[in-house]
Amino acid sequence: MTIQKEIGVGDFVLLDKIDLDSFMKNLELRFKHGKIYTYIGEVCVSVNPYRTMNIYDSNYVNQYKGRELFENPPHIFAIADAAHKVMKKQGRDTCIVISGESGSGKTEASKIIMKYIAAVTNIGVSPDKYSGGQKEIERVKNVLIQSNSILEAFGNAKTNRNDNSSRFGKYMDIHFDFKGDPIGGHINKYLLEKSRVIYQQGGERNFHCFYQLLLGAPDSLLQNLNLTRNTDHYFYIKQGQAAKVDSINDKNDFREVTSSLHTLEFTKSDEETLWNVVGAILHLGNLEFITEEDQLRVKDHKMVQNVAVLLKVPEDELQNALCERVIAAHGDIMRKEHTQSEATYGRDALAKAIYDRLFTWIVTRINSAIAVDEASRKQFQSSLIGVLDIYGFEIFDNNSFEQFCINYCNEKLQQLFIELVLKQEQEEYQKEGIEWTHIDYFNNQIICELVDAPHKGILAIMDEACLNVGKVTDEMLLEAMDKKLKDHKHYSSRQTKPAEKTLKHKVHFKITHYAGDVTYSINGFLDKNKDPLFQDFKRLLYHSKDPNLKSMWPEGAQHISETTKRPQTAGTLFKNSMAALVQNLMNKEPHYVRCIKPNELKSPTHFNEERVRHQVCYLGLVENVRVRRAGFVYRQRYDIFLKRYKMISQFTWPNFRSGTDKDGVKVIMDEHKFSNDVKYGHTKIFIRSPKTLFALEAARNELI
Ligand code: ADP
Ligand code: MG
Repeated sequence: MTIQKEIGVGDFVLLDKIDLDSFMKNLELRFKHGKIYTYIGEVCVSVNPYRTMNIYDSNYVNQYKGRELFENPPHIFAIADAAHKVMKKQGRDTCIVISGESGSGKTEASKIIMKYIAAVTNIGVSPDKYSGGQKEIERVKNVLIQSNSILEAFGNAKTNRNDNSSRFGKYMDIHFDFKGDPIGGHINKYLLEKSRVIYQQGGERNFHCFYQLLLGAPDSLLQNLNLTRNTDHYFYIKQGQAAKVDSINDKNDFREVTSSLHTLEFTKSDEETLWNVVGAILHLGNLEFITEEDQLRVKDHKMVQNVAVLLKVPEDELQNALCERVIAAHGDIMRKEHTQSEATYGRDALAKAIYDRLFTWIVTRINSAIAVDEASRKQFQSSLIGVLDIYGFEIFDNNSFEQFCINYCNEKLQQLFIELVLKQEQEEYQKEGIEWTHIDYFNNQIICELVDAPHKGILAIMDEACLNVGKVTDEMLLEAMDKKLKDHKHYSSRQTKPAEKTLKHKVHFKITHYAGDVTYSINGFLDKNKDPLFQDFKRLLYHSKDPNLKSMWPEGAQHISETTKRPQTAGTLFKNSMAALVQNLMNKEPHYVRCIKPNELKSPTHFNEERVRHQVCYLGLVENVRVRRAGFVYRQRYDIFLKRYKMISQFTWPNFRSGTDKDGVKVIMDEHKFSNDVKYGHTKIFIRSPKTLFALEAARNELI
């Protein structure tokens, strides 16, 4: 074990005193010495270094490959290896859940894990000797890794928290064959923040792809799309006034995305669809409406033409769909002209919808490139590792429906962490026949229920209000929430608790999340929840001459006179997807990476004590250490323990022959007079104090 060589302690359970202060001291000390990873048992705490660390090259891969956690200094590689090992040796599905607030390093962590897995699989064969199966494994690995740049181009954006913030949740399953080599995978995505397509707060950008296209595409492509390189020219991407970002090279990124698209077997026409839609959205944003002689029309006819060409729909039909809607009433079909604000609303809804569908289509395309069919899954007795990288807890100056969903998602994951960590510990003690001492946790279930409880949770109240859209306003929704939730400990609003100075009259409510208070503005909640799009657009897009685009709008096939089923609201869809995600993770052996953001300045040296303390608290890390210790700092399987320490007793060196591994371990511990400090479980030894562990190590070190 390398504890002695560590700065501070490499595992928080080894702290002399378990409290917040000692935890913080150790974390800061390690961060200042460039030790960004520290364990709590098998949980890896990671502090964002905000600089390139030279700890991920092949030497490091070799150092961690196939090793046990305690054999090396803490590293995220060890977690990836542990997950891979369990999966490979026991054929069990595992998952790695990466959590932490926005900008804490989750996405980077997930990429490091993927690269590690790619590096430790299918090796030992030189590329020119690859057989068919091995080539396929290489292909799958390439697709898995390169899909990142595409997903990030279309799903990430610069926010005020993170220059490369994931604006969608991602859960990726990697399937392995019985040899432990990847044979395919599947990506699930969760709620893309599509409102960003039409609006950005100051200092923020739209999704990267818009800037990549304008700054990186060859002249010929831009000409085809009728676009200029001037990012300030396009309303949908200039609102945050932050087109240029120091840490981002859009031009290079465009090249990378293009090359990844090729790796992923996107065809020429697939690529055309991609950039056509992005281009059409840029034109849409500049399209304005005017009323002339009592008639609404698009101000600049050229704009409609641009969009129509790119979406491959008839120009006049697009013009009509933008300016009026066709409704069926009592068997008659009527046209109703939009007001100017309805038309603008429709335009924005169209832009958001085509972007969202495009993103879904991209994910589907990636999935088809790496799909594993049921038959091969059986043939290869495959098992899988799931990697979850989902948007972190978020507080902005102005928080809307999106933040509400994102923060709810984080509540659910925290809930899962609490359940699994507690459950696992409890089960382990029980299984080993060792008495368990209960440790108190803040259980955030009450906050999850505030949001998702049937009938009385915020989502249910919102859905009810959505049944009456047109009649119910956001403010009325807020009133309904106030009425139903006024006694909830984690909810407040100006109306129910007037003393709250921060809450402006009638538009704000506040949730006390496990990670802190967030004030949400109710404006736009109903609309974003209902997420309507005029039928006319759906029909229009279904009739596009671009088969890709057409395939994204199957419901457009429906005739006007057919009544449509009310679609589920965005909130309910999200709630259901979260429930499915949690269920899925529950069924796997979990591994955790808990990411911490050291400061708000993206500085590699600054350790903002207050901000970090806050994160350590809400992530429940100190409680995690307490639970993990629950009297014992260390546990190990008898066979592994014996292998490591047999040299320190003449009775077990070079081999213990007079009994089981457990007997051997007992002999060592008795001889060194440690037996008072340990408990013997059925398969594992449990050690109470760090001193014993240090003494064992010291005895071993004397001999090597
Ligand atoms: P999150 O996904 O949690 O919002 P990211 O993973 O995007 O955060 O990290 C934000 C930024 O922090 C990255 O763009 C990168 O600059 C830096 N960063 C995070 N983790 C690392 C790391 N392990 N090494 C170097 N830089 C990192
Ligand atoms: Mg991210």
